[in-house]
Amino acid sequence: MNLYIEFSKILGNIFEADKIYIDEPMKNHTSFKVGGPADILVTPETSEDVVKLVKACRDHDVPYIIIGNGSNLLIKDGGVRGVVVKLSRMDKIKIDGDRITAESGVKLSDLCSAAMAEELAGLEFACGIPGSVGGAAAMNAGAYNGEVSNVIESALCIDNEGNVRTLGRDDLAMGYRTSAILKQRYTVVEVTFKLQKGEKDKIGSRIEDLNKRRSERQPLEFPSAGSTFKRPEGHFAAKLIEDTGLKGLSVGGAEVSVKHSGFIINKKEASAKDILDLIALVQKQVKEAYGVELHTEVRIIGED
Ligand SMILES: Cc1cc2nc3c(=O)[nH]c(=O)nc-3n(C[C@H](O)[C@H](O)[C@H](O)COP(=O)(O)OP(=O)(O)OC[C@H]3O[C@@H](n4cnc5c(N)ncnc54)[C@H](O)[C@@H]3O)c2cc1C
Repeated sequence: MNLYIEFSKILGNIFEADKIYIDEPMKNHTSFKVGGPADILVTPETSEDVVKLVKACRDHDVPYIIIGNGSNLLIKDGGVRGVVVKLSRMDKIKIDGDRITAESGVKLSDLCSAAMAEELAGLEFACGIPGSVGGAAAMNAGAYNGEVSNVIESALCIDNEGNVRTLGRDDLAMGYRTSAILKQRYTVVEVTFKLQKGEKDKIGSRIEDLNKRRSERQPLEFPSAGSTFKRPEGHFAAKLIEDTGLKGLSVGGAEVSVKHSGFIINKKEASAKDILDLIALVQKQVKEAYGVELHTEVRIIGED
């Protein structure tokens, strides 16, 4: 039973009806294509609306989580209690000299295209990461020797009391796939990146090259959340998994990709449980074989 129906009526005073979804299947909002229903999913359009929403959740003691493009999420089959806030409608970009400011819902691919159009270099590493600006800042997303921490200047954040503050690069305390945003449960609504002047052609060919490398090496034809595990100190997760003989291992519809063993893919209508069981199996077998603990990079959310 959805315990938050009454709260959805309160949200009806802040948001138009077409921005509030009840019992919304989260498999429609994640790149893994799994996940049970969110009691309420809201899609605000402005940071003022996010502040109102956060305050309403605080006043009524309703839990909430923020999602971007859902490309690093494993949402369990029982779904999410309370409110899921999806920021995809917040998609404006402003450019001022070598600074580009983007709302959290902007897709990284669109951000990179906008930077290239203005001959601004530095974001090419992010062009093929299928996340949003907010998710990339929260995760300190990175690839091909680049990461968000190298180009971010500041982030406009809302804390869980509804206070708005600008956090500079140092305050964001970015580490390997982590940040103060994740640790303090801030909601990022806007990020400013500082880039360098570049040449459009060179930026374009770097993007093309990186996208080609991705499609050659990654199983982009199947739903996934990218690399399932973080890189353990002194090792590569994919190599450990492959060396343990787990390439192609499956549980239900979930499989350790044959193309890239660092990816678990949803090969055939997997449930979240299939994926979670496969993750646990891989962790156990790698630990037994090499004594190395694999920790998930994918964020696991929701109820069984
Ligand atoms: C095929 C594929 C390839 C990938 N390749 C890479 C790669 O090369 N490098 C890499 O780093 N990642 C990669 N990823 C993972 C993923 O794309 C990144 O982690 C991305 O940054 C997640 O962004 P998102 O908007 O989808 O965030 P989500 O998956 O929606 O959320 C991820 C986390 O960030 C939080 N979050 C999201 N938005 C906000 C916000 N506005 N404010 C506060 N918290 C927020 C969420 O609560 C959650 O904890 C890949 C994924 C796929 C499917």
